[in-house]
Amino acid sequence: MYLIETYKSIQGESSFAGLPCIFVRLAGCNLRCSWCDSEYTFKGGYSQSIDQVEQTIAGLAPVKLVEFTGGEPMLQAKELLPLMDRLLASGYQLMIETSGERPLADVPKAVHKIMDVKCPGSGESERFHQPNLEALTPRDEVKFVITDRRDYEFARDFTLTHNLADQVRAVLFSPAFTNRPSLERDASNCTLDPRQLVEWMLADGVSARLNLQIHKFIWEPAKKGV
Ligand code: SF4
Repeated sequence: MYLIETYKSIQGESSFAGLPCIFVRLAGCNLRCSWCDSEYTFKGGYSQSIDQVEQTIAGLAPVKLVEFTGGEPMLQAKELLPLMDRLLASGYQLMIETSGERPLADVPKAVHKIMDVKCPGSGESERFHQPNLEALTPRDEVKFVITDRRDYEFARDFTLTHNLADQVRAVLFSPAFTNRPSLERDASNCTLDPRQLVEWMLADGVSARLNLQIHKFIWEPAKKGV
């Protein structure tokens, strides 16, 4: 497998936000979202066998929640899926953050999928693999990163059209964050003011929860490995 970093921190997003978590960040992505904050994953990385990754995770004990992220982790499904099976058998709770561009049907059902459906402002909204909607389970979450009113309406309508609120554990509306942040640990680095997003959500009574990336409010927003 090709990795960028493996570390232990606080989960910053989703309904697991605030929980201690091990992050395994895989190298490579086939999308180029306009607001991507992980461009450093596009190239490079180091190679490890599944055994080595498993050992690295074990070395970060006693945390038992693991998130695979990237980049796009499903580009390495051939190695990742067997590793997931092993970790589940060892009692780990697993999450994967994915764009939903690659098929997700073979991801073990016990894994919590956080599927980041791309809105128009990302420039990648046409890349979504629609059959992945059938692969969602009540463990999963669907996230939308929202840059403006057009993105908000896309997320709101997608949520309603596909009845997401009744199918998944959480629908997450996340204000976009600049990929050139200042050192300030506050909402000034959001390209859409969270207050504006909340006002739209309240006006529509949308069945979604506001998702702030809390690690960017705890540490300097550009800091890696946290
Ligand atoms: S899918 Fe994720 S890693 Fe890939 S370009 Fe988009 S935000 Fe960046």
